[in-house]
Amino acid sequence: MRRPLVMANWKMHGSRASAAELIGGLLDKVSEPRADIALCPSYVHLAQAIDACAGSAFVVGAQDCSHMHQGAYTGEVAPDMLVDLGCEWVLLGHSERRQYHGESDDLIAAKLAAAVEAGLKPVLCIGETREQREDGEAFPVVARQLLGALAEQSSLANLVIAYEPVWAIGTGLTASPDEAQEMHAYIRAQLDELDGVDADDVRLLYGGSVKAANAADLFAQPDIDGALVGGASLDSAEFAAIIAAA
Ligand code: PGA
Repeated sequence: MRRPLVMANWKMHGSRASAAELIGGLLDKVSEPRADIALCPSYVHLAQAIDACAGSAFVVGAQDCSHMHQGAYTGEVAPDMLVDLGCEWVLLGHSERRQYHGESDDLIAAKLAAAVEAGLKPVLCIGETREQREDGEAFPVVARQLLGALAEQSSLANLVIAYEPVWAIGTGLTASPDEAQEMHAYIRAQLDELDGVDADDVRLLYGGSVKAANAADLFAQPDIDGALVGGASLDSAEFAAIIAAA
């Protein structure tokens, strides 16, 4: 049995005041969840979120990390620093990092290796664009991103994969539960081919315009083990309802 995992990706939103309000609202609304829950605020709100979530069912993750452990890398944040702060998770390879920051599969693989070495639990984000889906390329693109990041890894314990079709992120368009399930089953089959991975143990999250109204149908699919939620995670009532659906 895979325990559901629901993650909030706040992206570049929030202030100290709004972060406090959002976390306070969640702690009021969510008790004894059936899912693991992680919040991923921006770096500057991590310490605040970790303090606010202490002793609760919520843990905290970062939205990215460096591929290096230390050194002259101005502006970067090492995975070791995130562990030191009290982060459990890190998102890697989000499509916005691939698109706006030119992150390649090789760089994402290096980040994943560094994150795992440091002791973070990695969430590898993969997904095709609308053009790639229309061209019939969705499955090979997803396989390339998956294997490009994972093939050379020495340890894949605690690995989580988030399938986020780019055309569904922040657009209000969601993959249908059947479409999402089809890709999740494909991803699990790909994982099954890798050495050192027990594909049945790996949690596969869906992301892309998840909200309270569609969460239950997505979570009902056999290979969907939770969600990575962007916009809808910025509202405590909406995000609490998604957690309740898990
Ligand atoms: P969205 O974002 O829920 O706003 O579509 C999801 C994500 O990018 O992780």
